[in-house]
Amino acid sequence: MAYTSISEIDNIYSAQEKHKDVAKHSTAQQRKKLLERLLAEIRSNEDAIQKALYHDFHKSAMETAITEIFAVEFELKQFIKHVEKWAKGKSVSRSLLFPNVSASLHYEPKGQVLIITPWNYPFQLPLVHLVASIAAGNVTMLKLSEFSKHTNQVIKKILGGIFKEEHVAVIEGEVNETTHLLTKRFDHIHFTGSPAVGKIVMKAASANLSDITLELGGKSPAIFDKNVSLERAVKNIIWAKFVNAGQTCIAPDYLLVPRPLKSEIEQLFKKELEHAFGTNAQHSPDFARIINDKQYKRLSDALTDARSLGAQLIAGGNLDERERYIEPTVLSNVAENNPLMTDEIFGPILPIVYYNQIADAISFINKKEKPLALYIFSEDSKFSNHVIRHTSVGSTCVNDAMIQILHPSLPFGGVNNSGIGQSTGWYGFKSFSHERAIADVKLMPMSKMFWFPYTEKTFKLLK
Ligand code: NAD
Repeated sequence: MAYTSISEIDNIYSAQEKHKDVAKHSTAQQRKKLLERLLAEIRSNEDAIQKALYHDFHKSAMETAITEIFAVEFELKQFIKHVEKWAKGKSVSRSLLFPNVSASLHYEPKGQVLIITPWNYPFQLPLVHLVASIAAGNVTMLKLSEFSKHTNQVIKKILGGIFKEEHVAVIEGEVNETTHLLTKRFDHIHFTGSPAVGKIVMKAASANLSDITLELGGKSPAIFDKNVSLERAVKNIIWAKFVNAGQTCIAPDYLLVPRPLKSEIEQLFKKELEHAFGTNAQHSPDFARIINDKQYKRLSDALTDARSLGAQLIAGGNLDERERYIEPTVLSNVAENNPLMTDEIFGPILPIVYYNQIADAISFINKKEKPLALYIFSEDSKFSNHVIRHTSVGSTCVNDAMIQILHPSLPFGGVNNSGIGQSTGWYGFKSFSHERAIADVKLMPMSKMFWFPYTEKTFKLLK
């Protein structure tokens, strides 16, 4: 695969630096037209997108339609509908202290933007964040993952038909190319990936005090109450965990389940996994593969290690290295120091941890880094509210999983180790814009009461 050369990166950066004022002064209507063209171009390339994802990791056409194409088209439609209103800015309420001041917020483009993306949703993630950056009026360098080369080619073709490189440019490469990009001064860097690389990005951004959004990962738990509609919850978890073969940042990483439900939930997982994927998931057209050998080895080693240390296999467990296939696997009794319990799993392996008291389950969550997502399955709102109040996570979904990311009125993002800043919809537009405060003073300057020379009267005014 041909990566973007260092000199090409330098040339694109300089071209975008020159062009950023033109992009900045584009009207919201012009940006909306570009988004409409992008939507049309994606629609006419849906087949090519599905084929590319299948080549990259055996992702089924339906799964690509739902999790990649629908997600991007949905976001584009939101922006097309709202960009003119959002870009207009808004007045804020008057204050009695400032009777003659008209106060407002303006949303101006940040300027020159770098977006760095991972491989796990290689169409959805780059495009969703790019849409927000274009809508906000920025020039953008879009660094794609080195592990999704077929999808990258389709993205390049789609964007190349609409944008000049001085406005939107795709950059291909790995650590070397990204490290070079990170030496440059950007007004905003939007990074999606692991917390470890997020720290590298944040450090590089600090050299120029570039603004950042970090969309990271972590261990996102799903906690079950004893008062739960168990069959529905298990079906729900099977979809959320095994879609994209578990390679989803907000997938339920592990389950916390009341101990009395042990035997019932284990029977249900066996039954419902067979219902979902048949007796041999390797033959299921719906089940994806692991993206590359390195990820396959990481997961298969952790699974082998966990089993040799006494983990109990509830379902799955079969592996096929040639295909990078890992059967949808459910385990219990995984050692606390096994990578499956210490690191983000990011694959189709689901440990269940049984708990006795809710306080134990909450402390299990809170001993780890703050998760990107938390799922609560309960028929009792007191239980859900208790868990929400005693934990800190990026987003939460009660009695469902992962759909919070699609809600047009909710931001997407983590907290501390799982992310900094917010993306998608209005929140994405805001992240790629500078929210500028304007105080427009009418008639008399308000500061007049403080002007020199200070007198006793000035003190009295403060009371
Ligand atoms: P990664 O952090 O290894 O790579 C992400 C990007 O950074 C890639 O473009 C890669 O080329 C680049 N990169 C890798 N190492 C680098 C280095 N040393 N210096 C500079 N750049 C470097 O992540 P990944 O394996 O591609 O993706 C998996 C991670 O992403 C998981 O932790 C997952 O949870 C997270 N993720 C988060 C979200 C979210 O929205 N919060 C979405 C998807 C994935």
